[in-house]
Amino acid sequence: MTVTLDVTWAVKWLTLSAQAMAEHRVELIELDRAIGDSDHGENMDRGFQAVLDKLAETPPETPGAALKLTAMALMSKVGGAAGPLYGTAFLRAATALGDAAYVDAPALAAALGAARDGIVARGKAESGDKTMVDAWTPAVEAAMAAAGDGDTLAVLIAAAEAAEAGAVATDPLVARKGRASYLGERSAGHRDPGAASSALILRAAAGAAA
Ligand code: ADP
Ligand code: MG
Repeated sequence: MTVTLDVTWAVKWLTLSAQAMAEHRVELIELDRAIGDSDHGENMDRGFQAVLDKLAETPPETPGAALKLTAMALMSKVGGAAGPLYGTAFLRAATALGDAAYVDAPALAAALGAARDGIVARGKAESGDKTMVDAWTPAVEAAMAAAGDGDTLAVLIAAAEAAEAGAVATDPLVARKGRASYLGERSAGHRDPGAASSALILRAAAGAAA
């Protein structure tokens, strides 16, 4: 079913993302405790609460404006490695969407691709390095493959499912980027926290359109 993705969808996406970060805060903290410094759940919850504050303060008029405001809030409030990475992702997606009032399936896939490219440009991680890229890259590939049918909801569901599978697939990997890489082989056997939060955010995008 093609759902019209407008600013109402974008605001709902961000609201559901904030809810997901609050609900999964402890789980993300535990994942980061195993291979990092335990702050990822805290960082993401704080960041998305700041997004909610900004949305209430200055309601955006387009999806692109909503994502730009999100980028600014996440960059200033999340901190750690994830803050600038998610900030860049949302900023690149906002730029890709421009001033458009509606996002169609190809524009959606392109925006997700721009977000992923921003994460890669900033963090220089490759697929298999056990980072959030391992959720985003399969999500973008699935979104691109689904976009041809023009069905926005199908694109969002494909992206969410691929991101979830990608996050699960980080479990056996040895981290080669970020704080978890300091653990070397001992990082294997744990899910990457940033891949897990990325999957939650992409699931929220689909949930907002359903
Ligand atoms: P920090 O590692 O500074 O404590 P967070 O705990 O908030 O920051 O975020 C950690 C997550 O950031 C990791 O799980 C990983 O997904 C992501 N990450 C770290 N470094 C990189 C990188 N170079 N490229 C992509 N993602 C990265
Ligand atoms: Mg951390």
